[in-house]
Amino acid sequence: MDHFELRNGVLHAEDVPLPAIADAVGSPVYVYSRATLTRHARVFREGLAGVADKHIAFAVKSNPNLAVLRLLAREGFGADVVSGGELERALAAGMPAAGIVFSGVGKTQAEMARGLEAGIGQFNIESEEEGIELAQLAAAKGFTAQAALRVNPDVDAGTHGKISTGKAENKFGVPYDRAGEIYARLAALPGLQIRGLAVHIGSQLASLAPLEAAFGRMGDLMRSIRAGGDAVTHMDLGGGVGVPYKAGEVFPSPAEYGAMVARVTADWGAKLMFEPGRVITGNSGVLVTRVIRVKPGVVAPFVVVDAAMNDLARPAMYDAWHDFVAVEPNGARMVANIVGPICESSDTFAMGREIDAVGPSDLAVFRTAGAYGATMANTYNSRPMVPEVMVDGDKWAIVADRIDPAVILSAERVPEWLD
Ligand SMILES: *Cc1c(COP(=O)(O)O)cnc(C)c1O
Repeated sequence: MDHFELRNGVLHAEDVPLPAIADAVGSPVYVYSRATLTRHARVFREGLAGVADKHIAFAVKSNPNLAVLRLLAREGFGADVVSGGELERALAAGMPAAGIVFSGVGKTQAEMARGLEAGIGQFNIESEEEGIELAQLAAAKGFTAQAALRVNPDVDAGTHGKISTGKAENKFGVPYDRAGEIYARLAALPGLQIRGLAVHIGSQLASLAPLEAAFGRMGDLMRSIRAGGDAVTHMDLGGGVGVPYKAGEVFPSPAEYGAMVARVTADWGAKLMFEPGRVITGNSGVLVTRVIRVKPGVVAPFVVVDAAMNDLARPAMYDAWHDFVAVEPNGARMVANIVGPICESSDTFAMGREIDAVGPSDLAVFRTAGAYGATMANTYNSRPMVPEVMVDGDKWAIVADRIDPAVILSAERVPEWLD
């Protein structure tokens, strides 16, 4: 459920008509609903009511906006970060360092040092080599790094190949069959307190079955590590719960996910950690765009909008679907191709899709754009960085400015030896 609804024929974010934002800020612009974000955070936590000892670390990469992070910090969420930049954002948003988990296959020495100095709660180690480096760094600085070992369970998440992370051939985690011996070696290192296992098999999962299979394998591994004499007190179950992008699609609810987790982990005797991203932020945002013009096509007309693949990359990257609806629908429908202005054919949001009829200068939105939307934006074709707005009831505020191409140009230099 979200708070983007038609009222008197005009699409609103909570109590704010979207044309008011587009007129004031321009387009394209991301609009987030505070009430929706808060609701999703609470529904996710309530879904896990059957898990007594838990920590929820929001996957910052899904939406790293400072205001979004501040809101989630106030809901008691920690952060799952995958870079030094995300770590600084989580700290700047006021997330307690102890609630921050650092994931990712390529943590540099500088990033690990920063995490240690900030006192983050857990490093999710993705290889034996990384574990040894972290242990040496921590010992040299007089710290003990709390860590979990990320395991690749070799489970097919059944999602898009580019967002699958838990098959043996993916770059993430240590191989399942070697995890026990690596855990034992890392457990013996000074500077490191390896306290658990972590798993994350992919994103936008449409079914709980692959997650249940992965968690079952992780439980088996946990028991065999304990039988070998090492402690396992924390189990990080990652993120990945999908959300509907098309009207009418049905996805597992947080309550169903939570019930499955509670059942599978009932006898684990470990603190459970979660790293939800998309399920919190996905339906909390839309991308507002304006139609520039409608150009005739051979099969269907091209609706050329002022948002492009640089603002919302998911369709170009993953063939992702975003519902496209008019902000002031007139009841008529049309079949069209929806494209942006960028000089690439991949700058296509939809082909031959039935949509609300729109014409030049009409506003429309791409729905479910709150996750992996603004965060993937770039300035390709020397377009501006897309701004972000948050709505709260009848209030709204710009939470990220549009960055004009002139600002980016001013960061570039022509060496004097070129002249
Ligand atoms: C991306 C990611 C997540 C979040 O995935 P969602 O599908 O957005 O829930 C969680 N954990 C790790 C390690 C990730 O890389």
